[in-house]
Amino acid sequence: MTTTRFAEPMARLIEELRKLPGIGTKTAQRLAFHVLRSPAEDAEALSHAIREIKQHLRLCSVCNNITDVDPCSYCTSPTRNHRLICVVEEPTNIATVEKTRSYNGVYHVLHGTLSPIGGVGPEQLRIANLLTRLGGDVDEVILATSPTTEGEATAVYLSAAIHKLKTPVRLTRIATGVPAGSDIEYADEVTMMRAMEGRREF
Ligand SMILES: [Zn+2]
Repeated sequence: MTTTRFAEPMARLIEELRKLPGIGTKTAQRLAFHVLRSPAEDAEALSHAIREIKQHLRLCSVCNNITDVDPCSYCTSPTRNHRLICVVEEPTNIATVEKTRSYNGVYHVLHGTLSPIGGVGPEQLRIANLLTRLGGDVDEVILATSPTTEGEATAVYLSAAIHKLKTPVRLTRIATGVPAGSDIEYADEVTMMRAMEGRREF
């Protein structure tokens, strides 16, 4: 795909935008023209915001969340339960758990899942500093990786690694099953099996 018919600065912007996930050549061109037509201060604000996230955001040295202060606000919060750690795949998953307003522990972000096909092994994930944290005062670790093949493999790996530590930490896995508001008639076998396994007193 060529963008050489554009003036050189325009072609360069299109090329850079095309590197973003989900952005094809057409969208990149539309965005580049939008920037060109925007007021200078809008374009400046966009480039400033991009520079800022690279200069001021980093990973929390405790939980690997993306933060501008290290340790992050969850890790230093006096009102959160630091004995309860919820392990998630990506920083964006924290917002998903927070939305429930029912979790008051802290987090640990792995930055991915195990994927032998994708060439992601345990050493590519941020597991080492999770195991270090468990040497302190932790009561429970919630494995909140997705119920996908990779998410399950990651949970199984973590479970084995944590059991090997022989710490008295309680290890739990998030429940999966029939989504709220759906009819069980449409649940596949695995989903229905998990829903049965995860049943509770009522
Ligand atoms: Zn943190």
